[in-house]
Amino acid sequence: MAEYKAPLRDIRFVLNEVFEADKQWATMPGLSEVDREMADAILEEAGKVTANLIAPLNRSGDEEGATWNEGQVTTPEGFKEAFATFAEGGWVGLTGNPEFGGMGMPKALAVQYEEMIYSANNSFALYPTLTAGACLAINAHASEELKQAYLPNMYGGVWAGSMCLTEPHSGTDLGIIRTKAEPQADGSYNVTGTKIFITGGEHDLNENIIHLVLAKLPDAPAGPRGISLFLVPKVLVNEDGSLGEANSVSCGSIEHKMGIKASATCVMNFDGAKGYLVGELNKGLAAMFTMMNYERLSIGIQGLGCSEMSYQSALEYARERIQGRAATGAVQPEKAADPIIVHPDVRRMLLNIKALTEAGRAFSTYTAMQLDQMKYAESAEKRQQAENLVALLTPVTKAFFTDIGLNNCIDGQQVFGGHGYIREWGQEQLVRDVRIAQIYEGTNGIQALDLMGRKVVANGGQFFREFTGQMNAFMAEQESAEMAEFIEPLKAAVSSLEELTELVIEKSGQNPNEVGAASVEYLHAFGYTVYGWMWAIMAAKSQQALAEGTTEPEFYAAKLSTARYYFQRILPRTLSLTETVKAGSDSLFELDADHF
Ligand SMILES: Cc1cc2nc3c(=O)[nH]c(=O)nc-3n(C[C@H](O)[C@H](O)[C@H](O)COP(=O)(O)OP(=O)(O)OC[C@H]3O[C@@H](n4cnc5c(N)ncnc54)[C@H](O)[C@@H]3O)c2cc1C
Repeated sequence: MAEYKAPLRDIRFVLNEVFEADKQWATMPGLSEVDREMADAILEEAGKVTANLIAPLNRSGDEEGATWNEGQVTTPEGFKEAFATFAEGGWVGLTGNPEFGGMGMPKALAVQYEEMIYSANNSFALYPTLTAGACLAINAHASEELKQAYLPNMYGGVWAGSMCLTEPHSGTDLGIIRTKAEPQADGSYNVTGTKIFITGGEHDLNENIIHLVLAKLPDAPAGPRGISLFLVPKVLVNEDGSLGEANSVSCGSIEHKMGIKASATCVMNFDGAKGYLVGELNKGLAAMFTMMNYERLSIGIQGLGCSEMSYQSALEYARERIQGRAATGAVQPEKAADPIIVHPDVRRMLLNIKALTEAGRAFSTYTAMQLDQMKYAESAEKRQQAENLVALLTPVTKAFFTDIGLNNCIDGQQVFGGHGYIREWGQEQLVRDVRIAQIYEGTNGIQALDLMGRKVVANGGQFFREFTGQMNAFMAEQESAEMAEFIEPLKAAVSSLEELTELVIEKSGQNPNEVGAASVEYLHAFGYTVYGWMWAIMAAKSQQALAEGTTEPEFYAAKLSTARYYFQRILPRTLSLTETVKAGSDSLFELDADHF
């Protein structure tokens, strides 16, 4: 595995040149103090912390794993110390509410740090990102009293957070959870039930863990409308803020799993544990969605971070490994063979990873900027527009980044040949670690259903049209002959996606199975088209920089070459996806269930 280096130049290109994020921040009262200099300093520091403190624990963490002993979970050697240093740096509360000790930084900046931490060490990254997500739900929905009691220590990384939804019989379908919450005379609740697969449910990084637990009151309505959200601390907190007695929460065991081995995946037992209601009764799922939407983008970024690491490692290897000769004649005749980067197939794999990772970085920044607009924009209209886009794009970022992320890690592994399959080079760990991102936080199949059903069909394509309106406006502005090679195929892809969307909306009115039949391929066609837009914007900015006589012509020329690769060799994937979506649901249901 190559030594991780944060791709700061590329991040700055996206943040400062492509999207000019600082100009957006300047217009928002809550972010107006964040300027390019401050953002640069934070990125620089994030690059150091992730590369020097966290990445070195990746391999040893995988080999040692988290361990369970009589209810106690121990993280691998070095995690505790590194986490303490990391928390002192204020990283857990980077986007947190300043009223309670958060740093109030924009999401567009935070996604860059998240990419870095996932590139460096997937398991480590999950502990602080889950805590940050829990803080988001508490900040948005809990009472003032709860916020004051819990947020400062959580933002400060003194206490951790966890998200307890899944039960043995209830994963995707949370409406059937059995965990019960019984009201007590003092206004608190007694929470009883078993949750499984809880990331960071128990560990030794923090003195307290604040569980956000979904449960039902005894008389709650059946299904999702009867779910409430409770804050259940591992250790009860006294009125003066000091730690009190242990709550009735215990970790029954941890899972032995394919990857992210240093992240503790816990069975959590709540035996009449004291809990506090967060938000309104029976509206727990909506409150949890605040956290889940944040987590979904974050888990998408797990796919992106792994792609970047895969690229760095595979590129280094492809330059050093010598095998065979270039088809057009020896490039290094003095050596026994040429480096494998001369071979078309190796270049194909590297360029796939590079083109998809850089487009993903741009798209994650774009989506994060919508999250910032949604939170900080001055006009209610702008906030609503951004909210619509966030709703539409969140399932795409989660599922597309992580589906592409696995492919990118496998392509990187393939560049290593047999050495990619053995432990020594670290590439196999990346493949194992990234795989979970397609499954948790709602499987990618469920994300695709969410996109197609709730975000496209349910509103008759309104959010979709608001989004394509932006792409069409951009394309209309690009009249130069140099941009035609990018704009022409993009126009074709966008209009094909528009037609496809109308078709599915129409067909879904006749047959409810059409939504589920179209959803995964539709999400992928959507993702590749959006990446085309990202590449077109990046190409336009690169042409501009070259025309203005930049001092870094190689950087911008590489962007244009990669854009060309994307449009010629990746975007055409939308053609086959479109045909698959058009085929509809009939052949999925022709086979009788007994005949499988
Ligand atoms: C390592 C790890 C960490 C996790 N961390 C957490 C955590 O911190 N907190 C937490 O609460 N949970 C956590 N989970 C649980 C995770 O979110 C669930 O496993 C996931 O949401 C899927 O639920 P399930 O496993 O019960 O699968 P099921 O819901 O049984 O789904 C099985 C299959 O059926 C499909 N399916 C189900 N329903 C539908 C439908 N209506 N339409 C189409 N397809 C459908 C699914 O897409 C999937 O392919 C974690 C899981 C793992 C493995």
